[in-house]
Amino acid sequence: MSTESDRGAVNASQTVTEKDREFLRGCVGLAQEALTAGDEPFGSLLVDESGTVRFRDRNRVKDGDATRHPEFEIARWAAENLSPHERRTSVVYTSGEHCPMCSAAHAWVG
Ligand SMILES: [Zn+2]
Repeated sequence: MSTESDRGAVNASQTVTEKDREFLRGCVGLAQEALTAGDEPFGSLLVDESGTVRFRDRNRVKDGDATRHPEFEIARWAAENLSPHERRTSVVYTSGEHCPMCSAAHAWVG
């Protein structure tokens, strides 16, 4: 789980910036894409410390795999493609609060 100092390293002021809003609108767009495809409306982005979107996905549970949440896909992708430092300094933007499965996956991959 993250500590107070981990969170402070990512966003010391906890202020929502216009860039944050842009990323959140991107998540809502992915959620809309999921809904249009007949899935549950959730979407998420992983943004690195330079502000670059490194991975994005939407919910894909409609075909029977209940683990296909975008936040879980981010955790899998990050574990395979990012260093521990990159994972620790990246930010996940998502259209809804993480479920317990995804929260645990993010904790495990840092
Ligand atoms: Zn989830």
